[in-house]
Amino acid sequence: MKILKIDHIGIAVKDLAASLKFYSQVLGLEVVGTEVVPEQQVKVAFLPCGDSELELLESTTPEGPIAKFIEKRGEGVQHIALRVDNLEEALEMMREKGLRLIDEKPRYGAGGARIAFLHPQAAKGVLLELTERKD
Ligand code: ZN
Repeated sequence: MKILKIDHIGIAVKDLAASLKFYSQVLGLEVVGTEVVPEQQVKVAFLPCGDSELELLESTTPEGPIAKFIEKRGEGVQHIALRVDNLEEALEMMREKGLRLIDEKPRYGAGGARIAFLHPQAAKGVLLELTERKD
């Protein structure tokens, strides 16, 4: 398993449209796609930033993980996604090392990626997403 780069940084926001006013209109980042991911109860927007991207996440339900995150910690950085060359291999290695996983198996992520989350306990308080994506 090899970590290739920071794929994106996930930012939890209350209001996607309002947040885009800052990220897009003020910072000048381009929005390349917005998508609703029902499995994760989020609406997301991707804004490429050099070799990486910002992922803005708005909850589609009051019970969703992003809504709960904002309730507890307020808006802000919610996760960091590392792109790996082989997600199955990465998960297998994490399991062997006894690291706590949120996803035992890869699942669908926005933009057609395959993703899996590690528990923040495994990564010093950071929610890490592993992403495998064909460019
Ligand atoms: Zn993400």
